[in-house]
Amino acid sequence: MTDTFETLAVHGGEPRPAAGGSVVFPLFQGTVFETDRGEAPYSRLGTNPTQRHLHRRLAALEGAEAAVATASGMGAITTALHSVLATGDHLIAAGDFYGGTHRFLTDHAARLGWTFDLVDPGDPDAWRRALRPSTKALLTETITNPLTRVGDLAGAARFARAHGLTSLIDNTLATPVVFRPHTVGFDLVCHSATKALNGHSDLTAGAVTGSRERIARVAAVLGSYGASLDPHAAFLLARGLKTLALRVRRQNENAQAVAELLDAHHAVAAVRYPGLASHPDHRRAAALLDGFGSVVTFLPAGGAPAAEAIVKALRLPYAAPSLGGVESLVTRLDLDGAGGMSGEAVRFSAGIEAADDLVADFAQALAQSPAALV
Ligand code: PLP
Repeated sequence: MTDTFETLAVHGGEPRPAAGGSVVFPLFQGTVFETDRGEAPYSRLGTNPTQRHLHRRLAALEGAEAAVATASGMGAITTALHSVLATGDHLIAAGDFYGGTHRFLTDHAARLGWTFDLVDPGDPDAWRRALRPSTKALLTETITNPLTRVGDLAGAARFARAHGLTSLIDNTLATPVVFRPHTVGFDLVCHSATKALNGHSDLTAGAVTGSRERIARVAAVLGSYGASLDPHAAFLLARGLKTLALRVRRQNENAQAVAELLDAHHAVAAVRYPGLASHPDHRRAAALLDGFGSVVTFLPAGGAPAAEAIVKALRLPYAAPSLGGVESLVTRLDLDGAGGMSGEAVRFSAGIEAADDLVADFAQALAQSPAALV
């Protein structure tokens, strides 16, 4: 199989000859299958043929031996963590983290008997200081949401291996088009497939990839907790994956174009996009990633009234709190100063529209900010 991601996205994990001669792998909606003995395929266990097909596709795209699909991105992260942590274990959480992951750790870790330390993803000394005899795993994000930090990813995977920890990474904002974490040694890769993997803002799903052995453990937890992805959603996700490379590359170009406009605009106080030379992790991102992602976070000059005016004035992006879909989105966020950004911010998720149209739309919206009028 070729290494070109465009080709992999279309053909990776597809059976040849095609199943039943169908170019599109069939949708088996059934939950239960005949067997005279032993375990039959069963959709709660993720073993229905359409679910298994999706698993092969996901594994191929991330360059892993195996994969499982989950009912959501949070299902992927929590199930992966449950597969490696037991009561008394400690986790190094290196990143600023998507709010749902942060909330899970702060609300549930103590109840489960887990402890964790939140540390800087780019500071190996901070990981070292956090290390305890009970540390079992390290969790990070490829491109953090919403601050778009890119940590020392190869270093984090090496650090985990050297200390006998399982390394986990949320690859949602990057996607395997931009970065394939298994290539630098990450053990488990998690995704919210609700975002770019499906790409059409019309299903909720997650994925975990890794070695056969590790994924068997994840699948066992998933089966017990009952959070597998429904076969119909699995069929749709396998379809969405076919256009992943085209969509993500266009989104990355659009994000770069809008980030450059924002960076040069006097109505904008600060911009975070790894593709900008001004980004604190730009050099690392340029060395590690094949593209800089589709998310741009910026602080409008003039605070909340300016953010409100800009979001209202934009005509193309929907004001909606998600990312990775074909339609551009913007959402307002209150940043608390972590990562050097505080105040009312706007997060832009680039869609696949024409870059010129998005840039023109942002230019007219920024012109209506109170900060542009003074
Ligand atoms: N990880 C990241 C980086 C996310 O942005 C999200 C959702 O926004 C999730 C995980 C959770 O995904 P889901 O909403 O599919 O549970």
